[in-house]
Amino acid sequence: MNEATLDIAVMAGDGIGPEVVEAALRVLETVERRLGGFRLSFTHLEAGAEAYRRTGVAMSEEVFARAASADAILFGAMGLPEVRLPDGREIAPQLDLRERLGLFAGVRPIRLLPGVPSALADPRARGIDLVILREQTEGLFAGRGRGPVSADRAEDRLVVTRAASERLFDVAFALARERKGRGGKGRVDLVDKANVLGSMAFFRAVFLERAKLHPDIEAGCRYVDASALDLVRRPWDFDVLVTENLMGDILSDLGAALVGGMGFAPTADLGRDKGLFQPAHGSAPDIAGKGVANPTAMILSAAMMLDWLGKTRGIEACREAARLVEAAVERVFAEGRIRPVELGGTSGTRAIAEAIAAAVDELGGAAVS
Ligand code: ATP
Repeated sequence: MNEATLDIAVMAGDGIGPEVVEAALRVLETVERRLGGFRLSFTHLEAGAEAYRRTGVAMSEEVFARAASADAILFGAMGLPEVRLPDGREIAPQLDLRERLGLFAGVRPIRLLPGVPSALADPRARGIDLVILREQTEGLFAGRGRGPVSADRAEDRLVVTRAASERLFDVAFALARERKGRGGKGRVDLVDKANVLGSMAFFRAVFLERAKLHPDIEAGCRYVDASALDLVRRPWDFDVLVTENLMGDILSDLGAALVGGMGFAPTADLGRDKGLFQPAHGSAPDIAGKGVANPTAMILSAAMMLDWLGKTRGIEACREAARLVEAAVERVFAEGRIRPVELGGTSGTRAIAEAIAAAVDELGGAAVS
């Protein structure tokens, strides 16, 4: 059989990045071998805070060009608190990648896996299944490092454009529609601060215009402060939450806490034809090098990569592989085979990767849809 070969740029980065990426590669290699129908060719690229410390450059143009030309980017984490730019900011090539590759949509599923405890005691927490869709090319991050800073005053800009907002909202409605097809609520809520900021009132006006083009999906608007409250009080009621860059950054950490912690929150950073897949967490220097990081978020991000590659390249085997990895992750937690250190257990990074890879092998070619 003639199998498509997909070129994957691997940027493991700093801190726990290389540890969780190694775990994801273990699972990807297992599913590729087990299912067939596609091949993954990995190219390891160096970038991040360690690279900056050693060479003075966080991400070379050569590395950027190689990543940009790949079919997809598998990304660990970058940045270390002690490695800073002269203006005090952390090294963050992931933000450059988002801007330069136009990865405007940060898709961040927040779903409580069977067998994983939530921070919420309410039994309805078992039904937490929402997506935070974060705008990633403008918002308050547009100002990063560019606002004037003097001895007495500093400024950052919050930028919202019609073009970026429209394309983001269209992704939000499409996502809600796809989820509705799988039994989802068919709802999009905009999260903003339209009562205070002109930029956010504009964001809301564009959202309401765009919502009219998607009458099959319910649309609502909410303030970010009340949304933080309701994400703790009744997260099971939400479906797709679409929001500005910094608000999405903050709310997705809150969301991760609802479903077991940072080690359970995957991300797909999507542009028109580019995709970067990384866990929602950072480099977690407090636990790096100890072998205790939970790689589940990274492994679920790799599954999102397979699904996206399958959809965009028309390779059904890739989509099947994504479903198989997700089913394997569910199985190991539902059956209590592993308990990550993050949840007070003793399963380290490698043990979790091995358990998930073993479940991929077991579930094999069985129907996993
Ligand atoms: P960034 O701003 O770069 O996203 P952050 O400042 O939000 O990073 P993280 O690196 O995400 O910080 O870490 C936040 C906390 O979550 C830390 O206590 C860290 O140890 C924990 N954490 C993050 N990822 C994991 C993981 N995969 N497994 C276990 N704990 C994790």
